[in-house]
Amino acid sequence: MKKVVKFGGSSLASAEQFQKVGKIIRQDEARRFVVPSAPGKRFSEDTKVTDMLYSCYHLAVKGKKFEEQLQKIKDRYQEIIDGLGLDLSLDDEFSVIREKFAKKEGRDYAASRGEYLNGIIMANYLGYEFIDSAEVIFFDENGNLDAEKTNTVLSERLMKAGKAVVPGFYGQGADGKVKTFSRGGSDVTGSIVARAVHADVYENWTDVSGFMIADPRIVKNPKSIDVITYKELRELSYMGASVLHEDAIFPVRKEGIPINIRNTNAPEEKGTLIVEATCRKPRFVITGIAGKKDFASVTIEKAMMNSQVGFCMKVLQVFAENGVSIEHMPSGIDTMTILAHQDDFVDKEQKVVAGIHRAVEPDFVEMESDLALIAVVGRGMKSARGTSGRIFSALAHANVNVRMIDQGSSELNIIIGVRNRDFETAIKAIYDIFVVTQV
Ligand code: ASP
Repeated sequence: MKKVVKFGGSSLASAEQFQKVGKIIRQDEARRFVVPSAPGKRFSEDTKVTDMLYSCYHLAVKGKKFEEQLQKIKDRYQEIIDGLGLDLSLDDEFSVIREKFAKKEGRDYAASRGEYLNGIIMANYLGYEFIDSAEVIFFDENGNLDAEKTNTVLSERLMKAGKAVVPGFYGQGADGKVKTFSRGGSDVTGSIVARAVHADVYENWTDVSGFMIADPRIVKNPKSIDVITYKELRELSYMGASVLHEDAIFPVRKEGIPINIRNTNAPEEKGTLIVEATCRKPRFVITGIAGKKDFASVTIEKAMMNSQVGFCMKVLQVFAENGVSIEHMPSGIDTMTILAHQDDFVDKEQKVVAGIHRAVEPDFVEMESDLALIAVVGRGMKSARGTSGRIFSALAHANVNVRMIDQGSSELNIIIGVRNRDFETAIKAIYDIFVVTQV
């Protein structure tokens, strides 16, 4: 059995957190490959080491003094080293970093040191081999992960090592310099490592016990999701639910490796298992609810629109030419509605409307703003009759007017448009009907 374990920043923010992590790893022989993030926040007003590095490097680039900032970063690591009682000095590492900052080595290099140094400490603490990600994870000329080269090189190194620490978040760019993923990218590293060693499971340890059915800022103490499929997760993440970096799914998905989201502060809890497919029945008809506010809609009406070849294409072209990205497109027989992010759209609205008039000569164009979209997602909806009926009666009882409905043909999700001001009430009402009262 082989497990890859990735620990997020809050799991490694202090010596105390490191000790919890050490205990988790030592508890299970299979936890042989470890991917650490940089130290995160110890308390809510604290600063993540990655952010400290970005601002320190910013000073260096401006030719300002950065010594003091760098010393603060060093202090954070020293506190961890001392708290763990390790015989380890990062003096040489910091001399190199100081030099490279002065030479303006790059913003990515700067940020990556957070994971790099934490990786050195972790390897020393566990007695595992340290593997610098810049030697085993590669990006191509377009800045995308070179998945195959990475997999070949990384796989060989890890198999040889048997037990290793691979810092998250960075690799080597096509120019040979250090390059990072986007923020939160250690999740992606964990997934790449899991693929390379053919792990049985990729455990992603964080500070929550998995995915919640709804946003805890809206629903008090929501229940967590036991098992979710990659597809359901995509739908929910797209609608704003975030626990995992979006790109983290792809490497493990190729190998059918499940991801288990776990809580470092509550390791006895099973967390959420993310899988390709499952025959396990979901606990509730719905798997999760997520949503986003601030959409604008453009509804275009034209008699016999459905019989006009290329009508939709012409409309979409107008949005594309104006650089407005489309988020949703529910349609009727003689109407189509386009939803876009309000911020992207407002300045361009008149240009878009004029363009639509020119392109398709509509009977009527109507616009609305301050709309919110809510996705109700669940593989269980396919076989449950009356799901949408239950959603709409719950919303009606909560006095929420539904502005738009869109059900994907996969029957995996129902998307509902409501006014921004009804957003929270709507989510609570849907949660209530499927999870609390279950009527
Ligand atoms: N430390 C990086 C960040 O703050 C990467 C990560 O934690 O995944 O975004």
